[in-house]
Amino acid sequence: MEFDIIIGLEVHIQLKTKSKLFCGCSNDGENLAANTTVCPVCMGHPGTLPVLNKQALDWAILMSLALNMKINQEIKFDRKNYFYPDLSKGYQISQFDQPVGVEGFIIVATLQGERKIGIERLHLEEDAAKNIHSNDKTLVDYNRCGTPLVEIVSNPEIRSPEEAKSYMQEIRLIARYLGISEADMEKGHLRCDANISLRPKTEKKLSPKTEIKNINSFRFVEKALAYEVTRQQQLWLSGEPPAEQSTRGWDAVKGQTYDQRSKEAANDYRYFPEPDLPNYEITSGMINMIKKDLVELPYDKKHRFTSEYGLSQQDIDILVESKALADYFEQVVSELRSWLETEVEGDREEIWEHNKKKIVKLANNWITTELFKLLKENHLNIKDIKISPENMAEFITLVYLNKVNSSAAQIILAAMFKTGGDPTHIMDDQDLAQLEGGEDLEKYIDLIIENNPDQVAEFKAGKDPLIQFFIGLGMKASKGKANPKDLEEIFRQKLK
Ligand code: ZN
Ligand code: MN
Repeated sequence: MEFDIIIGLEVHIQLKTKSKLFCGCSNDGENLAANTTVCPVCMGHPGTLPVLNKQALDWAILMSLALNMKINQEIKFDRKNYFYPDLSKGYQISQFDQPVGVEGFIIVATLQGERKIGIERLHLEEDAAKNIHSNDKTLVDYNRCGTPLVEIVSNPEIRSPEEAKSYMQEIRLIARYLGISEADMEKGHLRCDANISLRPKTEKKLSPKTEIKNINSFRFVEKALAYEVTRQQQLWLSGEPPAEQSTRGWDAVKGQTYDQRSKEAANDYRYFPEPDLPNYEITSGMINMIKKDLVELPYDKKHRFTSEYGLSQQDIDILVESKALADYFEQVVSELRSWLETEVEGDREEIWEHNKKKIVKLANNWITTELFKLLKENHLNIKDIKISPENMAEFITLVYLNKVNSSAAQIILAAMFKTGGDPTHIMDDQDLAQLEGGEDLEKYIDLIIENNPDQVAEFKAGKDPLIQFFIGLGMKASKGKANPKDLEEIFRQKLK
């Protein structure tokens, strides 16, 4: 028996607005003492009235546009009723039949290539409070209640646990590019419920789905779904496939999903229109204003980087993973062009075309290895970097034109990283410029040959690997400033 895997994801993203969705309370409650960012509105005291946060609505529209969705001309809020200690109101203000966005899609990179995954809807809703279980007690922190969320519901078109993970990663990246959420899963800014069922390849009808609730890491999305695939496969093969919808939790310690007493099915939430909020009209004027904040999205950036820079897919994925990094890289590249054109004589257009691929690759290597290392060691983000794109480009040009060798370059980069200084000044101040062939180098080499007669004799007798020994001494004598290739050439000539 062969099966299709049918997965749909519901992703919740916290918006980083200044205040909550329907009141003026600070939305920074996760960083403040428990139960200090609350008021009668978000606690749901009788007689209080919610007022919609305009920024949250704008961002929900912006996210919908980024997900290629249609925006509803009129949106409406509804109450979703259920009882739970983290919901002091007894209902959550959400959207039922007139959400912000409908019928969108994103394109996701998978091992089998790119796949288009449809998105059913995006709606705005308020978050619930946070239950904190400790020992035999459960404590409730209401700071989080009323935080704006967008919930994004995919079509059941995801075909593997790996694809589910890529889909979530892409959604997170888009939210970060738009600057509407920090989308930090560890802090619960991004949470996911996954629906999964199997279907024999010969069947047309979908089987009852299993919902896995509240997954909070990319790794767990993939693992929990993979576990479910195996579990459901066994049920099918033993002749007892899931007969009704069910809800399961994910136990990260055991690496298993487990049965949860199912919350009410959708129609038990008794959705009804929120009487305290009007319907809102979303005009095309509003949409056009919001469109101005639609930055180039990761998918488009990846494709543009591929055609413009000729870097490998792997290199590009790393660069595009953060908008700040991708922006920094592009600024460096555009500065590189002017540096190269001042340093190299000839036709400007030709110089760039001729060197572009190599120098861009070099810039990529230095940024994603040495610069990343420095950032990591100092617990800094690319946004905090002191090296201006112009200085970085000047540095890359020095390396590219062999004005410094790679060990001197590392010293220069570390100094730039500390002070934000200019690479040529640092090179001159610390006397790090690479020695050109010339007399200086010959002097060192003659001395080395004179002082190591045994090795010279052995080399001349055919022990070729000794060349490394001579190069090593040459580097040491020149305090690392010589070019190892020049050294090798001159040694070989003199020892012929
Ligand atoms: Zn409040
Ligand atoms: Mn929800």
